[in-house]
Amino acid sequence: CGIVGYVGRQAALEVVTAGLRRLEYRGYDSAGVAVLADGGLAVAKKAGKLVNLEKELGERPLPAATTGLGHTRWATHGAPDDVNAHPHLDDAGRVAVVHNGIIENFARLRAELEERGHRLTSETDTEVVSHLLAEEYSACVGLAEAMRLVCRRLEGAFTLVAVAAEEPGVVVGARRNSPLVVGVGQGEGFLASDVAAFIEYTRDAIELGQDQVVELRRDDSGRPGGTAAPAGPGRPGATGGP
Ligand code: GLU
Repeated sequence: CGIVGYVGRQAALEVVTAGLRRLEYRGYDSAGVAVLADGGLAVAKKAGKLVNLEKELGERPLPAATTGLGHTRWATHGAPDDVNAHPHLDDAGRVAVVHNGIIENFARLRAELEERGHRLTSETDTEVVSHLLAEEYSACVGLAEAMRLVCRRLEGAFTLVAVAAEEPGVVVGARRNSPLVVGVGQGEGFLASDVAAFIEYTRDAIELGQDQVVELRRDDSGRPGGTAAPAGPGRPGATGGP
C-alpha cells in the first residue's frame, strides 16, 4: 500500500504517478488516482499493477489539474478488483480518499451509514471514511476539520489522504499506527506513506506525529517562492489529534 498526495503548480497526475511508481512494491492489487479539475473530482482506478492504470490513463486521459492523490493497494477487505480499488468517493462524488491499513470498526460504521441512507459500493473498510467525511464536511467545517472529527470515530491503523471538490487547492492527511510523511516544496506540498515518493522534488520532509491531521494548501499569494505547505491550522504539531 502506497499513498501519494500533491498540491502545487505542477501537473498533479504526473507527480502522483511518479510517486506511486516508487512505492509500487508495496501493493500490486490495484492502483488509482483522483485529481481536482474544474470544480469536480476526476478518478481513474484499475485492478492489477500500476501499468494497467497507466494504460487506462493513456486511453482516457484525466483533465489537467494541480491537486491530486493516488494509491497502490494491498487488499485486506474486498477482492482486488476495479470497484475496491482506491480512491473511494462519497455518494455525491465530492470527496475522495485513499487509505493504507485497516479500519477495525468499519462494519459498524458502514451499518450506521447505510441506516442514514448512504449507498456504499465497495467491499472495503476504507469506503466508510469518504462517506463520513462527506457527512462532516460543510461550508463552515472544512476538509481538515472534517478529517479530525472522522478520525475520532475510527479504530485501527490508518494513513488517510483526502481531497474535496469544494477545496480545490487543499490536500489533507491523517495517520494512526501507520506512517505519513509531509514534503515541503516551494509553493507546493506532498504527502506520502514513504519519503521515496517525492524525494526527487524536495528533501524537506516532516514525519506526521501519531493522531495528527495535516492540511496542505496551495499558496495563491502569487509571491515567487512562497511556501504554501504546511500552513495554518493544519501545520504538523499545531493541530490537535483526532
Ligand atoms: N484495507 C484497505 C483495503 O483493503 C487498504 C489496504 C491497503 O493498505 O492497501 O482496501
